[in-house]
Amino acid sequence: MADSEAAPQVRYETPAPKVARIVLDRAAKRNAQGTRMTYELDAALRRACDDESVSVIVLAAEGDNFSAGHDLSMREPPAGEPGERVTLWGEYGGAGWEGLYTREREVYLEMTERWRNAPKPVLAAVQGGVISGGLMLMWAADIIVAADDARFRDNTGSDMGVPGVEFFAHPFELGVRRAKQFLFTGGWLSAQGALAAGMVNEVVPRAELGTRALALAEEIARTDRFTLKLIKASCNAAEDAMGRKAAMAAAFANHQIGHLQNMLMHGFPIDITRLPDSVRKGLEAAVAAGRGRLPQGD
Ligand code: ZN
Repeated sequence: MADSEAAPQVRYETPAPKVARIVLDRAAKRNAQGTRMTYELDAALRRACDDESVSVIVLAAEGDNFSAGHDLSMREPPAGEPGERVTLWGEYGGAGWEGLYTREREVYLEMTERWRNAPKPVLAAVQGGVISGGLMLMWAADIIVAADDARFRDNTGSDMGVPGVEFFAHPFELGVRRAKQFLFTGGWLSAQGALAAGMVNEVVPRAELGTRALALAEEIARTDRFTLKLIKASCNAAEDAMGRKAAMAAAFANHQIGHLQNMLMHGFPIDITRLPDSVRKGLEAAVAAGRGRLPQGD
């Protein structure tokens, strides 16, 4: 289990013919997604997509929780190396909002969109907490199998003064009315609630999550690889024809307004006054130590 600073945060496995399994391996941090995990995930997905022997990809997570969301510790660089990046925005050290905006586009919006458009079917197996940024990781998958202990929330609005995560798929995943309640309250959605909303495909006992996810992946892998790609492309095109991408662009702009409002009101991109003391002090210490990517000055 990886928990040291230097250890890989993502494992790559081939558990069955035609199936690759990518495992979030940062259980000690509840699989919080920082810069390193983001680019390790991207490299793993690229490897699976480049491998002609792979038809289906499983995305799983070590430990009790699929993902607690974005890593707010600011201990890692704002983006990957230039050759790893997926956008051409570039200026991560830009003054004012430029640097943080560039990171938001690269690491959160465009990277998740790229994963969502990976040509091969991706099946996410999720357990425990799937919180805020963790939802984005999960939503990038095509099929979601949830353990019965899985629970979902986006508390960016209720606890941090930001109107939902950057990859704003909530209305498409939950339906507009459920999405509003989910975001207005920041409350938990159970595995059964997610099933009823159509956000997950199946709910299975926790002990059976790994075996069921692999069995379903193997079943899918019996279909011709290229046919699977074409089916996925057609389904994704249908969702995009419903306006997903345009809606998400509007939401991303609103998300940036939320960050800027917090900068003006609190001096941080999030409303730290609502956070638990321990989290708030950690953020303040990171910025004081010069690790933050925050604008300089008052
Ligand atoms: Zn953001």
